[in-house]
Amino acid sequence: MAVPSQTTAILSALAEEQQGLLDLLHQPRCVTRAGREFWQGELHGQPVVLALSRIGKVAAATTATTLIEAFGAQRLVFTGVAGGVGPDVQVGDVVVATEFVQHDMDASPIFPRYQIPLYGRERFACDIALSALLSGAARAGLVRLEGQFDVESGRSERAVHHGLIASGDRFVSAAEEARRLHADLSDAGHPPLAVEMEGAAVAQVCHDYGIPFAAMRTISDRADDSAHVDFPKFVTEVASRYALAIIDEFVRQLPDAR
Ligand code: SAH
Repeated sequence: MAVPSQTTAILSALAEEQQGLLDLLHQPRCVTRAGREFWQGELHGQPVVLALSRIGKVAAATTATTLIEAFGAQRLVFTGVAGGVGPDVQVGDVVVATEFVQHDMDASPIFPRYQIPLYGRERFACDIALSALLSGAARAGLVRLEGQFDVESGRSERAVHHGLIASGDRFVSAAEEARRLHADLSDAGHPPLAVEMEGAAVAQVCHDYGIPFAAMRTISDRADDSAHVDFPKFVTEVASRYALAIIDEFVRQLPDAR
């Protein structure tokens, strides 16, 4: 009896990060839904659907829901960039998420700060097995790329971190704001490694549907006063190549769907 194929959804935050994957896609078919383009096809023999999350939590939640409801995605993986807020998280490092929290969720005093109302929880966890695969792919991808470009950090090795990522509808671009965000979350027991704008929304949607989810972010900035300057150059020159190498490796390692 044929085992049903497992469609993997690959969500990218930015077009630059998606382009390399689109170039590799076999038998690409573009379907428009909810005003978004979804690219179906095969990567290394695996059925995939590629989509841009769009920016912010609501947009990302809509994209994730559409991937599951209309395209039958059975697992989701997300690549993007983020601001590093953990003490050792530097530009050029990669963070593989273990969990997500919404730093702008605050329904207090009715619910504790950061708690998602009616869920009774502040965090949504990523899938352990899928995240382990992504983490291995991140290491392998970085080894493959090592030496190809010289990131400003001056370090020869990029670190791969694992931990909590905070999402919210704000581009954090002031050192004081980043410090406060990190301190407030830490005081509440949720010290984040990085801040971005979509992951927690996708994690919540995947939780609702019982779909495995994994996410990685390349650190593009330190969420400080120069974040907006570092950002565009970094995305084109570094993050898009990282995303491609890591996801290429990740898809190769997925358990054979057929
Ligand atoms: N210039 C981009 C907009 C980027 S918005 C454009 O024209 O399309 C920032 C994106 O990078 C979001 O997807 C967010 O998840 C991530 N990100 C990177 N650094 C961030 C930071 N310091 N704060 C919040 N989000 C950040």
